[in-house]
Order: sequence, then C-alpha cells, then structure tokens
Amino acid sequence: MSISEKPMAARGNPSGERGRWPILQQPRGLLVYMGFLLFAVLFLFGATIALTDVLLTDLATFVALVMSASVCVEAIRRLGMPAGLTRDLLGAWWFPVVVLLPPLYSLLMPLPVYLMLQLRARPAMAHRRVFNAVSVALSGFLASVAWHAYWGGGLLEGFRGTQDAHENLASGAGVVVALLCCAGFTVLNTLIVAVAARISSGPGHSLRPMWDREAFIVDAVELCVGVTVAILAHLTLFLLVIAIPPVVLLQRSLLYQQLQTAARTDPKTGLLNAPTWEQEAAIEIARARSSRSRAAVLIVDIDHFKRVNDNHGHLFGDQVLLGVATTIAQQLRQSDLLGRFGGEEFVVLLPGSDTTEAWQAAERLRSQVGRMEISVNDVPVSITISIGVAVIGDHGNDLVELLTAADLALYRAKETGRDRVCLPAGRPGVSGRIPGPREEEIPEPPDALGA
Ligand code: GH3
Ligand code: MG
Ligand code: MG
Repeated sequence: MSISEKPMAARGNPSGERGRWPILQQPRGLLVYMGFLLFAVLFLFGATIALTDVLLTDLATFVALVMSASVCVEAIRRLGMPAGLTRDLLGAWWFPVVVLLPPLYSLLMPLPVYLMLQLRARPAMAHRRVFNAVSVALSGFLASVAWHAYWGGGLLEGFRGTQDAHENLASGAGVVVALLCCAGFTVLNTLIVAVAARISSGPGHSLRPMWDREAFIVDAVELCVGVTVAILAHLTLFLLVIAIPPVVLLQRSLLYQQLQTAARTDPKTGLLNAPTWEQEAAIEIARARSSRSRAAVLIVDIDHFKRVNDNHGHLFGDQVLLGVATTIAQQLRQSDLLGRFGGEEFVVLLPGSDTTEAWQAAERLRSQVGRMEISVNDVPVSITISIGVAVIGDHGNDLVELLTAADLALYRAKETGRDRVCLPAGRPGVSGRIPGPREEEIPEPPDALGA
C-alpha cells in the first residue's frame, strides 16, 4: 500500500516558505513520525551493513529482482496512478528480497524501485515517495529479520541473514513461514501508512478502513504472487523471465480497476462524483417509478462555507468537507446514495422514503453535522448545514424535477435563516402539515413546511 495524494493533505494556512515546501505544510506530528521512521531505517542500515557478508550471488539476485521490478514499473507507467491510498503488486518483488537475501537488502530495495516510480511513472511529492520507501524498507527489514531468525535460531542470525534460509522454500513448512513473514510485512506496512494518514487528517475524521474486502483480496493475491516469485527465483534466476508477464498483467488490471473507481469518485471526500451520482440516482428513480414506490432527494449545502475558507484557509475548508461527508455517510443506510454535487454541496437519494422519512433523515443529518467536533488550533469551529428535500410524486417525477425542487427548497432554507431543512413551497402535497416526528425527537424549524 502507498500514499500518492490526498490523505496527507496539509492542514493550516500555507504561506511563504511553507507554500514552496509542501513538506513544511504537514502537521508537526506527521513530520516527527516521518523523521523518526527515516532515522530508524538509516540507523538499521548502519547497524546491519557491518554484520552482513556481501556475497556475489546475493548481489546477482538483488540486481535481477530490481530489474524485474523496473520492467513492471515501465509496463504500467503509461496507465497513470490513481490518487489517494492505493494498493499495488510491488510485493511481488519485495517478498523475494525478504526471503532470499539478508535483511540489509530489504532496506535497500525500495530505493531504486521508488526512484524509478518517481522518475518514470507519475511523479508524487518527494516526501510522500520517501515516506512510502521508508515504510516498505522498515516492514521488509523486520519481516526478513523474522524469517532469518526463525531458520537461524537467533536474533543475531536474523539481522545478519542466515546463509541457507532460502533452502527452506522447497519445503511445505518453509512456504508457510514465508507466507506468515510476508503477511506480517503487509500488515506492518499498512499500519505505518494508516498511522500517517490518521495523523495527517486529524482526530476528528474517520478514514476509510484500511482493509475492505477488495483490499484484502489484493493483499492476498500479492502475497501468493510474491512467495511464488521467490520460489521461482530460488530455483534459478532465469525463471524470473516467466514470472514477469503474469505479474505485469495483474498489476495492470489492478491499476485499471483503481483508475476506474477513481473516475467515479470525488478525490476530496471519496464520495461519488456528480456525474456518477446522477447516473445512479436516475436509475433508482426510474426503478421507484416503475414499482410505484417512493424515493426522496436531498441537497445539502454547508452554511457560510466561504467564511470558513476566508477565516481558516482552504486546506482547513477541505478538512471540513471531508468531515461533513464522513458524518453524513455514517448516518445513511447502505441503500442510500450519497454524492458530492460540487463545491460545498452534497446530494443524497433515499430510496423508499416518503416525505416524513426523508424529513427525519434530513433532520438527523443536520443535527449530527451541527454536533461535529472540529477545531482550529484547539478553538472549536461550528459548522451547520441547510437541506432542501424533494420527494418523488409530491415534488417531481424524474431526477431533473426532483433536483430542481430540492434546490428551490434549499434556497428557502437559506433565505429563512440557514441551519434548517425545507421542502419546496407551493408544491402538491406540502400545503398542509406533514405528519412528522414527535416534537421532542426532532426539532422542527418554524418555516420548514412550506408557505
Ligand atoms: P451559503 O450559506 O449561502 O451557502 O454561503 P457559502 O459561503 O457556503 O456559499 P458560497 O456559494 O458563497 O461559497 C461557497 C464557497 O465554497 C466558495 C468556495 O471557495 C468554497 N469551495 C468550493 N469548493 C471548495 C473546495 O473543494 N474546498 C474548499 N476549501 N472550498 C471550496
Ligand atoms: Mg453552495
Ligand atoms: Mg454554502
């Protein structure tokens, strides 16, 4: 796993030197964390270089694996790289280094590979590449120490590298231990990246989980491929030639799938982007109409968001966007469709909801966002939202009509004081009082029920 864009977003207001040096815009905690990891890798490198016997056969294996990895980088570079936390199949080349060579080489391997990624594939911010390389180096090193210590019978052997540890790859037990060590590598690398993303985004924001079903499958495939490549390379280095094409093919299809997902989502919030939301919402609405069931559309707009940007900077504004998106997402059902409409506006489709249910859902979103704990330099900042609600049958019959009606309702919410939920005025079905929730459950804005 590696970070290529958003999750290391800077907080605070960039200016002067800080604007020119992106690393200086990172939270102090993140800088300390990255500095500590870099120091640990340099220290371990200094300590192990004195312990390791550099053998010509090891060097040949190392060079062959670096060359295989570079073929892989070349083969995918034209596809581009998706932004955010991404998974790749570079483990196919890290894992053989872990089990075939002394731990020193696991510290070295990320250097040429990430340099090639930086120069030949999409360039990322230098500090992110360094961080990814450091994370892989540290995880690979510890996995390699564990592997060698297991077969060598001691920690010192682990650090030095047990000369014939790779002979065990021919046995069933050897393969199991290799799988466990390489799985440990993946877990550690993922955790190191997760901690960085957590520090970067601040405590008020929950990040997407590090392992969903897809990520787990990719990691499992990477593990199997990496250990298989290690066994092939152990038999003879020439077998790497037949290992490269399937790895390249897998890597390309993985990237293609990640790029496809990226094209559907908004990079800042991870929600569906506007065109994708519209496409999927139109399908849901057509389905609701044909089955004569209900559905509602909400347009959510953050109040006075320009002021937030003006007072605290755009980067803080981005954190607020992510926070609001996460809070809304947490309140919705699996079947609801949430998207970022643009700027500080979100759209929600609630399949099966009538006016009362949509109203209650909107009120829940409003009150949860109002309770969000978000602060700048420990000074709390309060965020409110206004919501326009439109329901199929009552306020429109297709997506365009529903969006127009919800937008009208949102306009009313803004006009009448913000931080409230409104329905479109003067539309069929809203002239009377809506059978809503009990007053003590959900506070009802005085003007929320239409003119
Ligand atoms: P209102 O309560 O009437 O909605 O006022 P507002 O300030 O929220 O609305 P306005 O349309 O005046 O301003 C929207 C602001 O949202 C202006 C724009 O700079 C900001 N904005 C739009 N997209 C982004 C974004 O991706 N990140 C940040 N930080 N700000 C954004
Ligand atoms: Mg707006
Ligand atoms: Mg706004």
